[in-house]
Amino acid sequence: MRDVSGHIVAPGLIDLHTHVYWGGTSLGIDAEEFCRKSGVTTCIDTGSAGPGNFAGFRRHVIEPCAVRILAYLHVSFAGIYAFSRTVMVGESEELRLMAPAEAVAVAEANRDVIIGIKVRVGRNSSGTSGTAPLDIALQAASEAGLPLMCHIDFPPPSYEDVVERLRPGDVLTHAFRPFPNSPLDPQGRVKDVVRRARERGVRFDIGHGKGSFAFKTARGMLANGFYPDTISSDVHALCIDGPAFDQVTTLSKFLCLGMPLDEVIAATTVNAAMALKRPELGSLKPGSVGDATVLSIREGRFDYVDVVGEHITGDRRMVSDGVAIAGKWWHPHGAFT
Ligand SMILES: [Zn+2]
Repeated sequence: MRDVSGHIVAPGLIDLHTHVYWGGTSLGIDAEEFCRKSGVTTCIDTGSAGPGNFAGFRRHVIEPCAVRILAYLHVSFAGIYAFSRTVMVGESEELRLMAPAEAVAVAEANRDVIIGIKVRVGRNSSGTSGTAPLDIALQAASEAGLPLMCHIDFPPPSYEDVVERLRPGDVLTHAFRPFPNSPLDPQGRVKDVVRRARERGVRFDIGHGKGSFAFKTARGMLANGFYPDTISSDVHALCIDGPAFDQVTTLSKFLCLGMPLDEVIAATTVNAAMALKRPELGSLKPGSVGDATVLSIREGRFDYVDVVGEHITGDRRMVSDGVAIAGKWWHPHGAFT
């Protein structure tokens, strides 16, 4: 038994958007190191691997890892294969790399760890291919009976063209991007197409990353009462030293912008579990997986920065004091060491 009075005991935190194919892809970071810092017990890799290199991800990273890793499989054959400070080639730009049949076969053979299909569209990731990679990925996701997670960056395609294609249960990540391809219109209202998508069950995920989260957009969305369904870090090699850092920092930003604590916790537990269709991961009820995260909220003055370089001073900071995985204390630190 441990005394956790004065702390928040949450279901094990889920980070719905990470890149943890360490060593196999240039953007991959070490999952265990990241999860220790973040209080995360389940991290979802989103498209680092495609059908051409998923076997190595499974054997060399997912299976030996102490924390649970689940994956959206990229529809592009080798996943995100050329993402670094010096070499940047979009894996959705060359349509010959699109591998829907191979993705369906690999997803079906790895149902225990593959929970969806991933695609990236936007000028940086798909060049001038527009929505073609998304349409191909949607076919693969439908065939496999899985949700899709779609990344969006600069146009083309437009936010509107992307979001109106998504089906109930699909996830739009980088949903609170800065302009261009922001979910807000120039008057600061949530675009109609975004509201309609939410009404039909499309999920809006943060995916902070290096270029995908702006305080200005988040303030506008929260002012409209539009909370993200899930808050995720999109941590990778180019944003782990800032501006994303880790999951507790990403969550703290929303706390400081005024999102209620219980909603912030839900966005990294129960809501994420629903996006994964793994409700047992977001719960502390008997019969769930036995993952828990102990958190505390520090008060003070803390500096936070977004992807366009805006700084805010927040009055709170969420920290992880340790986690239990499958009923066992994995990582005591902070108040418990
Ligand atoms: Zn990402």
